[in-house]
Amino acid sequence: MNSLKLIDGKAASARVLQQVRVDVAALVLQGIQPVLAVILVGEDPASQVYVRNKILRAEEAGIHSLEYRLPADAGQAEVLDLIARLNADASVNGILLQLPLPAHIEETRALQAIAPGKDVDGFHSENVGGLSQGRRVLTPCTPSGCMQLLTDTLGDLTGKHAVVIGRSNIVGKPMAALLLQAHCSVTVVHSRSSNAQELCRQADIVVAAVGRPRMIDASWLKEGCVVIDVGINRIEENGRSRLVGDVDFDSALPIVSAITPVPGGVGPMTIAFLMKNTVTAAVQQAQAQRSLSEAPCLSTY
Ligand code: NAD
Repeated sequence: MNSLKLIDGKAASARVLQQVRVDVAALVLQGIQPVLAVILVGEDPASQVYVRNKILRAEEAGIHSLEYRLPADAGQAEVLDLIARLNADASVNGILLQLPLPAHIEETRALQAIAPGKDVDGFHSENVGGLSQGRRVLTPCTPSGCMQLLTDTLGDLTGKHAVVIGRSNIVGKPMAALLLQAHCSVTVVHSRSSNAQELCRQADIVVAAVGRPRMIDASWLKEGCVVIDVGINRIEENGRSRLVGDVDFDSALPIVSAITPVPGGVGPMTIAFLMKNTVTAAVQQAQAQRSLSEAPCLSTY
């Protein structure tokens, strides 16, 4: 395998997390301890693993975490009450509501209840709107991580033609908005597109966020394009269970100039950007209370 073509998400996320650690240490010196509250409703096994990983990464970065576990039969009011308490608690900087929620809880209503300034997932409509207007808001973690991988790989993205496959609220749409902000020409294709493959073949950058194992093979790709594979699909193969992306990696590799593997590509970036968003939220909340202009390492927030 040509490892020169591999975009190493583990290494890139380690760099982001190292910067987060430095920033947290600087904040702590100023008496500001970033705190992330994580809410898990129910006992979904995958969600439990995600929450555990998020809390571990937070602690490693020096961010304090608070874990709130509600039973699967917790009502909408109970979830909203908890969010309201965390919104009002000035010591909490970020609130993450682990998805999916049990079916009886209205996801949009719960996400909209989170104060936009503490919405470290970037799902609140105020943050979504701000992103589409190009304002500096908390942006969804997975697309932010993809942008970091793209700029690490390509530098300036101006003028590139990017095709995003998938239009979900958490990946496809914010990804398209971020690429547009970076001055790409952006095409979004989805399940109802009649010519997705043809459009994709014209792309300099392909971001696949579909949730279909190995759907995108070499026939979708232009020679020399860069591929970011967001998909995480568990399949059974040769009698064992494994994770694969939306892109057929072996088929794509000879064509692309760079590609993310699954696992080890986008996945680690998502958690790293959750930590970065928590620090951003902490800085913005502190700035709202007092001027932090004397803190040079925080100037990018
Ligand atoms: P989703 O199901 O909400 O959206 C999938 C999108 O794919 C839809 O917009 C749909 O229109 C489009 N689609 C479906 N079939 C298509 C087809 N044949 N051609 C073109 N488009 C098609 O999924 P999501 O939440 O956006 O997640 C997508 C994938 O990314 C999943 O595999 C998910 O597990 C993964 N994911 C990974 C991370 C990470 O941290 N790496 C984070 C979020 C999601």
